[in-house]
Amino acid sequence: MTEITCKLLVIGAGPGGYVCAIRAGQLGIDTVIVESTKLGGSCLNVGCIPSKAMIHVAEEFEKAAEAAAGKTPFGLTAAEPKLDLKQAVAWKDGIVQRLNNGVAGLLRKAKVKIVHGKARFRDGKTVVVETETGPKTIQAEAIVIATGSAPVELPFLPFGGNVISSTGALALTEVPKRLVVVGGGYIGLELGTAFAKLGAKVSVVEAQDKILPLYDAELTGPISKRLTALGVEVLLGAKALGPTPKGDGLRIETADGKERSLPADRILVTVGRKPVTDGLGLENLVLDMDGRFIRIGERCETAMRGIYAIGDVTGEPMLAHRAMAQGEMVAEIVAGLPRAWDKRGIAAICFTDPEIVSVGLSPDEAKRAGHELKIGQFPFAANGRAMTRHGEAGFVRVVAQAGSELVLGIQAVGQGVSELSAAFGLAIEMGATLQDIAGTIHAHPTLGEAFPEAAMKALGHALHI
Ligand SMILES: Cc1cc2nc3c(=O)[nH]c(=O)nc-3n(C[C@H](O)[C@H](O)[C@H](O)COP(=O)(O)OP(=O)(O)OC[C@H]3O[C@@H](n4cnc5c(N)ncnc54)[C@H](O)[C@@H]3O)c2cc1C
Repeated sequence: MTEITCKLLVIGAGPGGYVCAIRAGQLGIDTVIVESTKLGGSCLNVGCIPSKAMIHVAEEFEKAAEAAAGKTPFGLTAAEPKLDLKQAVAWKDGIVQRLNNGVAGLLRKAKVKIVHGKARFRDGKTVVVETETGPKTIQAEAIVIATGSAPVELPFLPFGGNVISSTGALALTEVPKRLVVVGGGYIGLELGTAFAKLGAKVSVVEAQDKILPLYDAELTGPISKRLTALGVEVLLGAKALGPTPKGDGLRIETADGKERSLPADRILVTVGRKPVTDGLGLENLVLDMDGRFIRIGERCETAMRGIYAIGDVTGEPMLAHRAMAQGEMVAEIVAGLPRAWDKRGIAAICFTDPEIVSVGLSPDEAKRAGHELKIGQFPFAANGRAMTRHGEAGFVRVVAQAGSELVLGIQAVGQGVSELSAAFGLAIEMGATLQDIAGTIHAHPTLGEAFPEAAMKALGHALHI
């Protein structure tokens, strides 16, 4: 058996793991990273990147279809669009491949050793990796668990046949005529919306009484409206029961307790993600768990000295940028730098239509935390750039503490607001007040102008409403 020794071993090369390894390499730490599938993890291969590529394809197709139907308000017409979904998927796979190669190049540049295979703990300092050429034993002073997450499977609706996960949905080479999405969270709605734009008749089955349960009704309102306009049937308070006897649909129990069948060529199950710990040999360690997730402290340390955990395997918020920030921090801690998790906010985005972005506290969360509030909201209907993009739905909302005027949270819903997350994140991280935002010149005409306007509204003197 080959033996490798190193200072830092990272298990899993998703955004958490590969960023940790790169930063460690930059700091001169002798680092090994183990990956059982492809570099880049869920995010790059079957998550963030491929989903946004397919959302883009759907948006372009919808624009062309609108023009073909003569529905644009500015007189654009075009021929009936046709989409070769196989080619679109190949284009998406090409982007993924380029990014895979990019990650490999960055790891090599940082002098990180890459080992392909599945890692299993033997003890707190030793991991055995099953590689194509046989088992390799790796001994490390510090080990980072960055094994990520996988889609939750419903026992009465297992993946296979016409029941697919987000990974299956991103690989479809034909648009299903009828798609039922089980779960109205961001992954289900992003993909459901994309397939609706590509021509599928989409139904969304959500057990709770609202879509995107983590966001308030003001933020989700424009998304519900758009889903209706796209012909998406949203069944709230409804439970999936299992496939129809012929396998041509889904049996559900509706909110009023009645059983109904929804015809479907494909059933996309997006009911959450679970940590990947099976086969990792955690029984050979003594870690504290938080349910099925690994419990961590403010330095991403686990209950065992020298073992860290980062990213989705540590629970919510399961977001790529959180995993990356944790990875970078842990590398610096292993290098002996004085770091701890001191972030004030982590932006969460739904790439739905329109998009939602939220950083920091929502009005309800801020009230629950006991703050007296000043809230300002500015509608895109009064923003010139939104009008010129034909995207007037939505708003920017700023939540501040009354008195100090410290901004506690910023939310927006609207076309293209994901790009505003940078400004929102910076404002929260830098401890901005309403006056700081109102006093910053925002270029005209941009969607970003709605940000100082919302701050001015909270201060009682918005200029454009
Ligand atoms: C459809 C979809 C869309 C998404 N969109 C977004 C988005 O827009 N923005 C966002 O921030 N997040 C998004 N996410 C979530 C994002 O993908 C995750 O938060 C992110 O990938 C977590 O990173 P990670 O490094 O913790 O784990 P992962 O990316 O899951 O990587 C873990 C890696 O560890 C490897 N591994 C597991 N076990 C072992 C083992 N025993 N040995 C060796 N290797 C192992 C796996 O093969 C995997 O490559 C999306 C997810 C999905 C499914």
